[in-house]
Amino acid sequence: MGSDPHSTPRFFLLDEATWSSHDMDCHKVDPVNRGDAPNCPSCGETIGMLTWRPPYRVELVLYGRDFGDFVTCSGYDLLVSERFAEAFRAEGLTGLEGFYPAEVVKVRKKRRGPKPSVVPHYFAVTACFAHAAVDLENSHIRYSDPITCSECLCSGVDAIHGFTLQPGTWRGEDIFRARGLQGRLIVSERFARFVAHHGFTNMQLAPTEEYVDDPDSPPSPPSTPIAKA
Ligand SMILES: [Zn+2]
Repeated sequence: MGSDPHSTPRFFLLDEATWSSHDMDCHKVDPVNRGDAPNCPSCGETIGMLTWRPPYRVELVLYGRDFGDFVTCSGYDLLVSERFAEAFRAEGLTGLEGFYPAEVVKVRKKRRGPKPSVVPHYFAVTACFAHAAVDLENSHIRYSDPITCSECLCSGVDAIHGFTLQPGTWRGEDIFRARGLQGRLIVSERFARFVAHHGFTNMQLAPTEEYVDDPDSPPSPPSTPIAKA
């Protein structure tokens, strides 16, 4: 069961909590096998990155004092901890696919102090491509080229100064990639409560209306992060 798509929904942009106590990176370890990238069914444009095929072997680089529950890999691949994966499934959240066990073949520690004794089990997941679409009229996204396909709304994204989704396009997924902004992870209010409730680490959420990502603007601290650990 997903979130209720009929109430007035709010959405958040999910990112890694940089500089957090659970800051980490994930590198895929050879052999890295790749599958085709997904295409728009209407215009044929590539709407994602090449997919990741087994074996799922990774090296983790630990910047914080301990391992996080969430980390992005190259491409559109994500790792989530076993604790996260179990809770996600037990509580019936939706939008993540895969859950393939990932083998951590190496850990590199970038901070002084003792190495965490236990490496959590991790699972490789991807977020679904949803029907939800960026509300182009009411968002502040600078695209690199005019959008020509009304299905994928695909174009390069140069800058974001807040955005919303077109009312009625969201079908209740708790984590997803939206048409018109496939490169970002968007989550539901339910997902935000889930993260706060469990205290999942290395996740940072910002309301989509307030999310800013502009390489031409000086960086500013996240406006109202809900969860940062
Ligand atoms: Zn298209």
